[in-house]
Amino acid sequence: MAVRDVVVWPDERLRQKTVPVTSFDDKVRALYNDLRDTMYAENGLGIAAIQIGDPTQMFLVDPKLAGRTESDPPVAFINPEVVWTSDETQKSDEGCLSFPEIYIQVERPMRARIRAKDLDGREFEIEGEGLMARCLLHEFDHLTGKLLVDFVGPLKRQMIKKKLARRGRDEEEAAG
Ligand SMILES: [Zn+2]
Repeated sequence: MAVRDVVVWPDERLRQKTVPVTSFDDKVRALYNDLRDTMYAENGLGIAAIQIGDPTQMFLVDPKLAGRTESDPPVAFINPEVVWTSDETQKSDEGCLSFPEIYIQVERPMRARIRAKDLDGREFEIEGEGLMARCLLHEFDHLTGKLLVDFVGPLKRQMIKKKLARRGRDEEEAAG
């Protein structure tokens, strides 16, 4: 168990090809634990394994958002697929742990249904609406290498790059 460093864009590791889980073993459980600890440390509603530099097809979602109680552990989605999305859409600002302090307006389906496996390899389906649908589709995008900056034009993308580079330098200075 450990809090891991979150990979910040434009780090190329966020674009690496992801790989499905084939054996549901202790390694997968250990990755889950690191993702959980990192998600809580960063106050995220969700996190994908690729965001800590691991290409495994897994993401976690905040338990309350996923319809459980606050004291439940985050819900793991392994080898997920999007099986359905609504035609109705929603527009809202979206954040991402790999884009600290950046918010981008993204239009997404209002509802989405995801099929995935849990930590024991059991298949399940979950349908989300509003913020939950947004979170599911955002995390799923990470597994296909798609990122928030892919929703903006080249000018805005340059602005974000500068802002994140400046932030990285400030953090380095603060760390001495
Ligand atoms: Zn993200």
